[in-house]
Amino acid sequence: MRLRLPFALGPVARVSLGVLALFVSLVLIADMVLGIIPPRTETELLARHRVAENVAAQTSVLLTSADQALLVRSLQQVMSRNRDLLSVAVRRAGGGILVQRGDHDRHWEVRDSARSRLNHLQVQLYSGGKPWGWVEMAFAPAGAGGVLNWLREPAVQFYSLLIIGGFLLCFFYLRRVMQYLDPSAAVPERVRAAFDTLSDGVVVLDAEARIMLANRAFRALHPDGGGEMQGRAVRDLQWLPRHVGGEQPDLPWTSVLSGQADVPDARMSIMQPDGKSVEAIVRCAPVRDGGGRMRGCIVTFHDVTEVYEANDRLRETLGDLERTREQIHTQNEELRRLAMRDPMTGCLNRRAFFDAAADLADMALGGDATLCCIMTDIDHFKGFNDLYGHSVGDQVIQVVARALAASIRNTDLLCRYGGEEFCILLPNTSLADACVIAERARATIESGASAGVRSVQVRKITSSFGVATVAAGASSLQVLIDQADQALYVSKAEGRNRVTVWTPEHAV
Ligand code: GH3
Ligand code: MG
Ligand code: MG
Repeated sequence: MRLRLPFALGPVARVSLGVLALFVSLVLIADMVLGIIPPRTETELLARHRVAENVAAQTSVLLTSADQALLVRSLQQVMSRNRDLLSVAVRRAGGGILVQRGDHDRHWEVRDSARSRLNHLQVQLYSGGKPWGWVEMAFAPAGAGGVLNWLREPAVQFYSLLIIGGFLLCFFYLRRVMQYLDPSAAVPERVRAAFDTLSDGVVVLDAEARIMLANRAFRALHPDGGGEMQGRAVRDLQWLPRHVGGEQPDLPWTSVLSGQADVPDARMSIMQPDGKSVEAIVRCAPVRDGGGRMRGCIVTFHDVTEVYEANDRLRETLGDLERTREQIHTQNEELRRLAMRDPMTGCLNRRAFFDAAADLADMALGGDATLCCIMTDIDHFKGFNDLYGHSVGDQVIQVVARALAASIRNTDLLCRYGGEEFCILLPNTSLADACVIAERARATIESGASAGVRSVQVRKITSSFGVATVAAGASSLQVLIDQADQALYVSKAEGRNRVTVWTPEHAV
């Protein structure tokens, strides 16, 4: 008949109980044959005999001194030192009691039984070498009944300790051993061999996240992946990261084993001793038994290091391309700027100037906007070349260009029109405003341009100006420029360093 327990015992607990039962039986047989545990009564009798012999020896000595009070005190001491001693008496050979402590008449009721022999001790007294009487001692019953007294029996305590301690030892030892030997956890060798053929790393974990199987590809993820893994907790693999990348940093098997249903693929970086890392995509699927209980999980590691490295290289290349593109863009801008600007003064060259001026002129000539033109030419410039040399002459041109640029707005166009001749177009500007701008530029050049030439102290620099507006009826941009030029020549003719506004009389 099969024994049914009201609670479920695991295989480890059952084996532990079996081993314990065998062991206790062996001890019982050894006790039966060899008597390895002394009965309590025997040890107690021995102790009581020892007390009685001591009391008798002491009493014999005190009898010779004939000091009865001393004898009484001595017996009192014996009573107080032995709690289970009920009474003690010194009896003469004739039967009369000399001294007694405790209710001796009541307790000294000797029956001829083993228990009585244990509880009533009588030791012969001698005086002068002849028997004198007895010391009688009545003890509390030894080996009395009751559960508590039974529990105090050394044999009971010994067996209790043996059973409880033995079971616990057996249980914990077997549980440890079963990590390695649990038949339900054993994976057949051919299954292992099949897993070893997979290119992905595979680890099978039990419900406590202990490794039941680790294939070759998994071990190859790190140089420390050799050695025995079966039965080890997966967290003991120091080389395996404690967290994964992505939104859910928990290890996938921790999430799966804790019952989380939908665990996304995780990216894991496994650091190598050489500082590089193996990148893996980790997937984890639960393993359940027929009853739907979680028994463990299968974890796969898909090595994507090469893909990531290729991605990194691609990203680097794209970065390089982007940088090159920016460089080309900057260089193109520079080229465009160089193509549009006069290198010596930074003013627009004639081609760029006419390109930019075309739209402004179209709008102004169509009557939709106002437009003014200023022509200016450095006075007696040849003299600077002749007096200070061409290099200083160049500096004079640059200083005048800077003064002109400072006098106009960003929307105005400044062009180096000839050697030391400049043309300025002022969109949306009235003739009066254009005259103000021209006069301001003239005054700036006159008052401060010569100080701008650092290499040598040059004589005063001045410029003559001619101003024209489309409002005066110019039919084209070129006509407008010519009109400004004609006004400039009037300024030259009238003594230079002045501003002249074109009027029809100036027309040549
Ligand atoms: P005016 O007051 O009538 O304008 O007298 P000017 O001497 O300025 O007139 P002119 O046109 O006779 O002189 C212009 C000189 O400028 C002629 C040329 O050698 C010189 N020149 C033209 N371009 C440059 C240049 O880029 N650098 C230098 N240093 N000189 C230049
Ligand atoms: Mg000139
Ligand atoms: Mg000149």
